[in-house]
Amino acid sequence: MNTPIIIAIDGYAGCGKSTTAKAVAQHLNYIYIDTGAMYRAVTLFFLNHHVNLEQPSEIQNALAQLQISFVYNPSSQKSDAYLNGKNVENEIRKMYISQKVSEVSRIAAVRHAMVAQQQQMGKKKGIVMDGRDIGTVVFPEADLKIFMQTDVSIRAKRRQAELKKQGEEIEIETILENLKKRDLIDTSREEGPLLKAQDALILDSSNISIEEQTQYVIRLAEQKIKEYSSI
Ligand code: C5P
Repeated sequence: MNTPIIIAIDGYAGCGKSTTAKAVAQHLNYIYIDTGAMYRAVTLFFLNHHVNLEQPSEIQNALAQLQISFVYNPSSQKSDAYLNGKNVENEIRKMYISQKVSEVSRIAAVRHAMVAQQQQMGKKKGIVMDGRDIGTVVFPEADLKIFMQTDVSIRAKRRQAELKKQGEEIEIETILENLKKRDLIDTSREEGPLLKAQDALILDSSNISIEEQTQYVIRLAEQKIKEYSSI
């Protein structure tokens, strides 16, 4: 049997990490975990419960009350995020969550809780996980690490089209500003900042198709799996 591996995909907001990670996981028959969805679900809970981000006890209390899981949806052929048993997949993709998520994700207590769950999910390997700190904090020992980057104006256009499909018409300037702001908060926070791991390979998706970026990662993953299986 092939040795299962851990694939970590990190990078800036809107680079197509999830699309790539999902396709790679499907090809390898691996589990896919979208860690951004977890931080988005925490943000939704905090907003719904009016959690004061300056109050550590309120944050701890809220974290103790929330449970995030992923359930496979056969009609869309992907996993939907659930918050306390409720499907929140559509809600967490909305712009008002994107506007708040980086402020919530910079909180150390939030990161500690999410990282612990993510490490648990990857215990058996055979997983593709995407986010900001997967190759540096969650799985520093990941077998394959990819760091994705894309020109920000291209990212904004792609994100605008995605939101339109989900029924939200947002001006390109608003999206551009949100991507830049999130990148700034994500790269400059103290806890688990967005950072390329030393041993990560850079994948610039500005001028290549989704199919090409997916094939690139699959090729690398298959090489790794073959390498391990021949030891
Ligand atoms: O991946 P996505 O863009 O949906 O992530 C939403 C936000 O969640 C990011 O902008 C970042 O603030 C946060 N995030 C994080 N660490 C991760 C994944 C996402 O801080 N591993």
